[in-house]
Amino acid sequence: MANEPDNTAQTPPSAAPGPPNPNVLEGAGVLTAKRYERLKLWLHLGELAFVVAALAVFYFAGGSRLLAAFARQLGHNEWGTVAVYVVAMLAGGSLLTLPWSYFAGFHLEHRFNLSNQTLAGWIWDEVKGFALTLVFMGVVAEAVYALLRATGAWWWAWTAAFMTAFSLLLNFILPVVIIPIFYKLTKLEDESLAAKLSAMAGQVGARVVGVFRIALGEKTKKANAAFAGFGRTRRILLGDTLLANFSAPEIELVLAHELAHFHFHDIWKNMVIGAVLTAGGLWASDLWLRAVAGGDLANIEHLPLLALGMMVFGLITSPLTRAWSRRAEYRADWFALEMTRDAAVFESAMRKLAGQNLADMEPHPVVEFLFHDHPALSKRIAKASEWRQTLGK
Ligand SMILES: [Zn+2]
Repeated sequence: MANEPDNTAQTPPSAAPGPPNPNVLEGAGVLTAKRYERLKLWLHLGELAFVVAALAVFYFAGGSRLLAAFARQLGHNEWGTVAVYVVAMLAGGSLLTLPWSYFAGFHLEHRFNLSNQTLAGWIWDEVKGFALTLVFMGVVAEAVYALLRATGAWWWAWTAAFMTAFSLLLNFILPVVIIPIFYKLTKLEDESLAAKLSAMAGQVGARVVGVFRIALGEKTKKANAAFAGFGRTRRILLGDTLLANFSAPEIELVLAHELAHFHFHDIWKNMVIGAVLTAGGLWASDLWLRAVAGGDLANIEHLPLLALGMMVFGLITSPLTRAWSRRAEYRADWFALEMTRDAAVFESAMRKLAGQNLADMEPHPVVEFLFHDHPALSKRIAKASEWRQTLGK
């Protein structure tokens, strides 16, 4: 392909993973990125297969019935029973999947020189993450079983409504409550850049609370930027790793892309799609639960069946949601090009992103179709060339 650096062929495939070139991914870096992404994908698939198998064995071999009996004794009432069961199951699940968390979240990142995190720091993040999971999953499970007990045949519709409202709340508090648990957020010191970025936000009618620097660099070398929250919590977040490595026009381009998501209401559209898919998944799980477990749906013993139903439904529908997401990403790129009017800056920003994040610029089309919610960087760069041609530049 035209975007492939021409010295790739001479690079021995055994080249040791070196520090990623922060500017451009080329030569050995291309192969290193491919190996990194392949390992991550296999780890992910292995974990997925393991979780599905473990849930099935736990349920069908009678483990869940025993845990439910224990939870009933310890929990006294229905709420307590759900709490005991869910805490035990999440703790067991986290312990069993710890090898994957470690290899994907710590070992691999260090092996490919992408991490700045100490082992102690990683463990602390895992602990905090587990605590958050307990709280959020606890709330969701209590709500699901309360609705199962109270609303009968339409429990799945009520549950979908609850889950949608809950995810709205989580999105609202994300930049002010959840992200600060893991990363320091500070107002962007560079006032001229902040003013420029806020003005750009104003251009698309996005009122933002401010432009914030997020201290990713304590943990990772990877660059990232986001537009998080909504209403009174909406803010622009720029990774310090991005700020350090990207030029002002490149940062403006990244922001223009994020603003495009705002302009096209992608956050709300995703919320609606999420709500429909949640309802669909719960409805399908309802059928599957009735077929396997019979009528006693509100019995916590059948939670692994519900989890399996939702997981399988998610797996089946994920290529659709990812195709939708890639489409939105192309549209956001185009909008960003229209806003910044500089295809060269777009291309250099994409190449830097690939270099800094060790992204495979040209993943296998099947891998891209099944697993990527962003188009391949080579395709995004090709779109920028297409845009340039519309100008006759
Ligand atoms: Zn995007």
